[in-house]
Amino acid sequence: MHSLSLLLACVVATGGLARTATAQPARFLVPERAPGARWLKGNTHAHTTNSDGDTAPDEVARWYKSRKYDFLVLSDHNVFTDPATLASLMDSTFLLIPGEEVTTAFQKAAVHVNALAITRVIAAPRDSTLLGTVQKTVDAIRADHAVPHINHPNFLWSIDTATLFRVKNDRLLEIFNGHPTVHNIGGGDWPGMEDAWDALLTRGKKIYGIAVDDAHHFQGEFAKARANPGRGWVVVRARSRDTREIVTALDEGRFYASTGPVIDAITVTESELSVTITRTGDFKYTTQFVGADGEILATDKSLTPSYRLRGPETYVRVRVVDSSGATAWLQPVFTTRYRERPTP
Ligand SMILES: [Zn+2]
Ligand SMILES: [Zn+2]
Repeated sequence: MHSLSLLLACVVATGGLARTATAQPARFLVPERAPGARWLKGNTHAHTTNSDGDTAPDEVARWYKSRKYDFLVLSDHNVFTDPATLASLMDSTFLLIPGEEVTTAFQKAAVHVNALAITRVIAAPRDSTLLGTVQKTVDAIRADHAVPHINHPNFLWSIDTATLFRVKNDRLLEIFNGHPTVHNIGGGDWPGMEDAWDALLTRGKKIYGIAVDDAHHFQGEFAKARANPGRGWVVVRARSRDTREIVTALDEGRFYASTGPVIDAITVTESELSVTITRTGDFKYTTQFVGADGEILATDKSLTPSYRLRGPETYVRVRVVDSSGATAWLQPVFTTRYRERPTP
């Protein structure tokens, strides 16, 4: 391009951006109201003796049911632990969602993707690249009209952020996994899962963060170094305790993830995002509102934290940390300025 026309193009582009910024400050995209919806707590990642867990499926299911979980996914490695065999445990208070941890690899990288609401076992694919391996796994799950979530990318330092960015048709990513060797918070030259999440969101990949147990050990001592249950879960906004209703709500981001804090309400208007925290005992809470690139936009120490849009935000998400260090991650609320990356 000729230097003068390049200069002109820059001036025009800058002028256009400036006009857009002043004329159209961000507004939150207000989610549709869902009358009759309530919160349902569940874990989407648990193993049994059908793969490498230490406890039989019925006992694993009972562990969760007796602790008032509303739903559970038994996700054995490349095995379908069919809830139909556990029908006597399911009632109006507890649902087993059919699942599998589709488990494959590329060279030394572990590629594990959970499949929620499967109808049959999904064969683990192979490919000649890491991206291809992840993509084929996601595609195989979608082909069964099941919902994929990409598991513990930092396990064996397997799936980097650039690869996660290029995967298509996935909406769910484990940002907390209760297994002791999955490196949730990263280290050295490798980002933690929350930083990776913001990097993906900032570049235009709409993806939601989930917390899971990845429980293997229900017997013997419960200890930090063991993969015990009860560490991470999701709380889904759903109208009924129904498999399709719950997995669709997950896939569309109508939930929060937690390792402790309980959220009573999330309210979004065009200009404000507000949250009501349910207090546990005498716990105290600190809420951070997080924007693009993981920037902390505001901190609120009340039980009803709120954030008013200033104008340049593309998304805002909420992190609530309680006085024990446990965390709740709310899903990003996108604004009119958010640009989802084009699907190649
Ligand atoms: Zn795994
Ligand atoms: Zn697992």
